[in-house]
Amino acid sequence: MHNTTLQGKTALITGSTSGIGLGIARALAQQGAHIVLNGFGDADEIKALQASLAQDCGVKTIYHPADMSKPLEIAAMMKFATEKFGGVDILVNNAGIQHVADIEDFPVDKWDAIIAINLSSAFHTMRLALPAMKMKNWGRIINIASAHGLVGSAQKSAYVAAKHGIVGLTKAAALETAQTGVTCNAICPGWVLTPLVQKQVDARAEKEGVSIEAAKKGLLSEKQPSGEFVTPEQLGALAVFLCSEAANQVRGAAWNMDGGWTAQ
Ligand code: NAD
Repeated sequence: MHNTTLQGKTALITGSTSGIGLGIARALAQQGAHIVLNGFGDADEIKALQASLAQDCGVKTIYHPADMSKPLEIAAMMKFATEKFGGVDILVNNAGIQHVADIEDFPVDKWDAIIAINLSSAFHTMRLALPAMKMKNWGRIINIASAHGLVGSAQKSAYVAAKHGIVGLTKAAALETAQTGVTCNAICPGWVLTPLVQKQVDARAEKEGVSIEAAKKGLLSEKQPSGEFVTPEQLGALAVFLCSEAANQVRGAAWNMDGGWTAQ
């Protein structure tokens, strides 16, 4: 017996071969949405992922390898989704990278890549998805921002700028679609233990000469009052809610799920 709240819809999730994107893809598939996966990774592992989602959830899955820093590849991915599934009803802009350095030491190419992948890619997917969503008078755009879309941290200038930017983009899109059946919202997670954060845990353990467990605790205790990581499954459940009818009037929100990080 499968859930059917999103049956007949197509969801495209950028950066869904890992971490939060994969958690959201799984949650939407569990509600019956066909899934367009995107992101980097081993070809065989991605095939296996596609097959397991399709089998577990009784949905169709396709994959496109577009690099989110390349507008032409993004356009090819959106065209592919339309050809295969007739359009994108649910767009989750999730692909993202991180780099940690003081501004004066921040590599220019890393700045450009973070702005392109974490911010501009969402503009490109949205500009290409919105006409069909408006025509159908139904659509859901969910932008995965961060607690760093609401507050800053040192050594994360590009990331903080991109995430504040995507919160702004979300508000502008919500206003442009306010009188339609299309909604646009951002989700602002705190620390989630994905490969993106594991790198920061490992760097901290090495720098401080402590165990991985101690580095995790240190990371959480600085920012996240709950002392617990947020999970991809919890974020997936929030995305499902934002796709529901109950969320029809949730528009332009920057919804934090951050163990209390931004309440401080
Ligand atoms: P992750 O590294 O596990 O996954 C990132 C995904 O993006 C992968 O599928 C990867 O292949 C893909 N990706 C990276 N560069 C890409 C590119 N150029 N083109 C296409 N795909 C690309 O990271 P995650 O932690 O799951 O992060 C997902 C999103 O959540 C990011 O936007 C991140 O900023 C945000 N976020 C993460 C946390 C956290 O604590 N992990 C907190 C707040 C926000």
